[in-house]
Amino acid sequence: MLGPVLLAAAGSDHVRRLVAGTPLTRPVVDRFVAGEELADALHTTDGLLDQGLTVTLDRLGESVTDPAQATRNRDGYLTLVDELAAAGIAERAELSVKLSAFGQALPDGHDIAHRNVARVVAAASAAGTAVTLDMEDHRTVDSTLAVHRALRADHPETGAVLQSYLFRSEEDCRALAAAGARVRLVKGAYREPAEVAFQRRAEVDLAYVRCLRLLMDGDGYPMVGSHDPRLIAIAEELAKRAGRAADDYEFQMLFGIRDAEQRRLAARGHRVRVYVPYGTDWYGYFMRRLAERPANLTFFARSLVTR
Ligand code: FAD
Repeated sequence: MLGPVLLAAAGSDHVRRLVAGTPLTRPVVDRFVAGEELADALHTTDGLLDQGLTVTLDRLGESVTDPAQATRNRDGYLTLVDELAAAGIAERAELSVKLSAFGQALPDGHDIAHRNVARVVAAASAAGTAVTLDMEDHRTVDSTLAVHRALRADHPETGAVLQSYLFRSEEDCRALAAAGARVRLVKGAYREPAEVAFQRRAEVDLAYVRCLRLLMDGDGYPMVGSHDPRLIAIAEELAKRAGRAADDYEFQMLFGIRDAEQRRLAARGHRVRVYVPYGTDWYGYFMRRLAERPANLTFFARSLVTR
């Protein structure tokens, strides 16, 4: 029951001011976010690479309503690419971007976001790394997949995310598997209406397996974005049946969630990529992490009383 309430709060400016305004929130945010500065993200990335993991970096930001902020977000990513190249880690550290951070919700937002992300994708490609377009709420899916299709003409390594909770995703998986694309499959983290999305966890999980089977049997590169032990075991089995080698797909997990499992999979020869968010605009990301696991609220509450 708490999940939908937290997801509603994720979109509320009033709650944002309350939560983000208290320094008491900080230690809990630190569990999920690498820090506010680029230097923090690079430090975390170094530590993860040293453990045999790979990384995808998210410079936090979303739902931009000011064109200047969209440009600043783009420039922040361009600086990030320069830093990855300078540190010589671009091949092992990719980028994840949200098109709403690049202006997708503005008037003419589709074209603005496309232009902004195209600059980042070109810079990333020149530096030897790649970009995956995160997927946001269902109203953005057509626009995001159209941008993804266009970007792939010059940069086929650009990744997309599909969310198994959406009814449409099975068809999208089929299309992207045939197109040979890199696809991160996730369950989905937004509050979606029953007209477009499965509401029961069991249905979302079953849809995940159907989509995963399509991706594993297809021509693309599946990126298994989940911490769910059952889905991870099923992914291994489906990959084996499809004759995929260990470098022909990868597991992805979020920074701060099931760290031991991340290391265990890597030690068994799997490719594991950790999604590392950093920056000051952490509120929406943080609230989605609380909503996924309301037990996190206990952790949050305990940190408030033990200070
Ligand atoms: P769950 O059943 O939710 O979790 C399985 C187990 O993982 C839980 O029992 C618990 O042990 C652990 N766990 C999961 N979440 C948490 C948490 N918040 N705190 C503590 N433990 C937890 N969603 C999108 O909508 N768009 C995206 O672009 C997107 N990108 C993602 C990128 C990556 C690399 C990953 C891993 C997830 C991404 N997500 C995205 C989020 C995703 O949709 C799910 O909300 C999230 O992964 C939780 O689902 P799960 O598959 O881990 O399964």
